[in-house]
Amino acid sequence: MEIARRGNGAVLTLDDGRTVALDSDEPMAFACVSHAHMDHLSGRGSRSAVMTEETRLIFGARGVKVRNHVRLDFGRSADLGGVRVSVQPSGHMLGSAVFELDLDGRKLLYTGDLNTQASILHDPAWSTEADVLVIESTYGSPVYRFEERELVYAKVVRWIKETLRDGRVPAFSVYAAGKAQEVIALVNQSMRVPVLVSRDVGSVASVYKRAYPWMEFVVEGTEEASEVLRDGELVYVSERVKSLGGLRASWSVATGWALTRSFAGFDASFALSSHADFAGLVEYVESVSPRVVVTMYGSSSVFASHLRRLGYRAISLDERQNVRLL
Ligand SMILES: [Zn+2]
Repeated sequence: MEIARRGNGAVLTLDDGRTVALDSDEPMAFACVSHAHMDHLSGRGSRSAVMTEETRLIFGARGVKVRNHVRLDFGRSADLGGVRVSVQPSGHMLGSAVFELDLDGRKLLYTGDLNTQASILHDPAWSTEADVLVIESTYGSPVYRFEERELVYAKVVRWIKETLRDGRVPAFSVYAAGKAQEVIALVNQSMRVPVLVSRDVGSVASVYKRAYPWMEFVVEGTEEASEVLRDGELVYVSERVKSLGGLRASWSVATGWALTRSFAGFDASFALSSHADFAGLVEYVESVSPRVVVTMYGSSSVFASHLRRLGYRAISLDERQNVRLL
């Protein structure tokens, strides 16, 4: 069995020549599409693109139709060309999946993007034992150590309340899918202030509302939005900084990168990540107890060398491009 870095993802080649794409657009027998972030939009070159229904719906809300979609729900499995495939929640965003492939008795886990901490919307990633673990390593360096999520949430809520008290609109410039909905949910559960959202954030949030019917938000451009803007007391969530008519806004970002980077021009930044930090990734590897670990994305070399020091056979796929497994 071999794995190779291809495009945004990877391609797995079994000993008998069968191939599986992992978040890659290479034309393979089938593709595992882990979640609905645009950098993981893939599988369109394969005969079938396996994903959860939520992933398909969020892509749809972002204007992307996946025509070769095969639906796979959490806890279910399917046989694709002799490979048994199942999916488990990865904790990263709505519908995000860890793929488990049964390859003639050997188990391979592909994590896609992973969060090992519970959030206001999602349980942490499930884990299970496997022979081979292909794991993301976005924050795979020891410099990345996130605070408890509840503490970050408390800082966000405090900043919103202070900004409102100053007569300004607390505004968030965040990823339209995932982080934006987490901010909406946090505001909904912490205070009684309307959340105005951009159209892009709103169309993804309407998919989230199917899973979380209590979520409340007002989409800009509607009559209700004009009323909210007239009233002036609101939280604004968008994928980019915009003018809010005559209202004065204070802008913030919420991303794991806020831990090590400064965001010039913003009034506040919060290290709120949808990914596991270094310690979370190490714990996940330990719970899977694999014979081989392949790391990809972000700090993959640093993470692989740390795992080797812990006694694992670990290889960075960003460094090696092509790895023979087992
Ligand atoms: Zn992602």
